[in-house]
Amino acid sequence: MLTRILKQRFAVSFTIILLLSAESAGGWGFFAHERINRLAVFCLPPEMLVLYKPHLEYLRVHATDPDKRRYVVAAEAPRHYLDIDLLDQPPYRQIPRSWQEAVARYGADSLQRNGILPWHLEKIMFMLTKAFRERDQQRILQLSAEAGHYVADAHVPLHACSNHNGQFTGQTGIHGLWESRIPELLADAEFDYWAGKAHYIGDWRAFVWQIVTSSGLAADTVLKKEKWLCEQTPPAQRYAYEIRNGVLTRTYAEGYTKAYHRLLNGMTARRMKQSIAAVAACWYTAWVNAGQPSLQELHHTSLTESELQEFEQLQQRWTEGRMLGRTE
Ligand SMILES: [Zn+2]
Repeated sequence: MLTRILKQRFAVSFTIILLLSAESAGGWGFFAHERINRLAVFCLPPEMLVLYKPHLEYLRVHATDPDKRRYVVAAEAPRHYLDIDLLDQPPYRQIPRSWQEAVARYGADSLQRNGILPWHLEKIMFMLTKAFRERDQQRILQLSAEAGHYVADAHVPLHACSNHNGQFTGQTGIHGLWESRIPELLADAEFDYWAGKAHYIGDWRAFVWQIVTSSGLAADTVLKKEKWLCEQTPPAQRYAYEIRNGVLTRTYAEGYTKAYHRLLNGMTARRMKQSIAAVAACWYTAWVNAGQPSLQELHHTSLTESELQEFEQLQQRWTEGRMLGRTE
């Protein structure tokens, strides 16, 4: 995510899924990623809308491909997070921004363990710019959808924190509460989605690091406020049971979720809106840096047979549901 996913199953007399993120029930947990990609399209200038608007559905559906790929490729997981607190102290200014320097300081293995999100976003920007230069429609759409995913993930505080699911502080499940349960319950009804016109980002690397460090700095609040709320709330009021896809599912109770959202002073809403603006800025910046090519007559306008097969395989492996590497 915005989705590092938690799937916990335990049998009582029937199976209960502790559904603190929704993916395991068949795509419901992808809500925020899909919304963010879709809404970012409306921030684009008309020259880009000629391509992006007719492919709105593609950008929405494929917003979650990077999370699905975690069921196929073990190397995928670290692209979604950075355990920034394991690399530096707040305000996190000492971490080398260049990949080569970071590898020299921490070693490649340690970075793969602690996450590579900001560096991966630099690579994605390079690839998307190249796709625009080559006027390759499928690559533009695929990389736009996937860039949207990683940009959105960078805005989630628990994607920039080693205690990413509250596992060190007795708060297991908080990841899904912040990034899935709050948006699913409140976003369409209450959030202000209009993020304005897409901005050009002069220094993409600095922009990405500003997002990731602000996420890392916000993680402490995300954890502390929930801890406090949990202590004030009897267990029976913390959770609710719902039937989802025919399965009895334990989730955070509506009242608890809303109380947490209020305690955070709407942080999830703010960061979701910032994600929409940043995704639009990413696409727009890549297009400008490629020389603003016309998007009306492009090459490679439909998927090849092997690309289709690859997508089907992704769907298949995800449906089978065995994630490789870190699960959140
Ligand atoms: Zn992700």
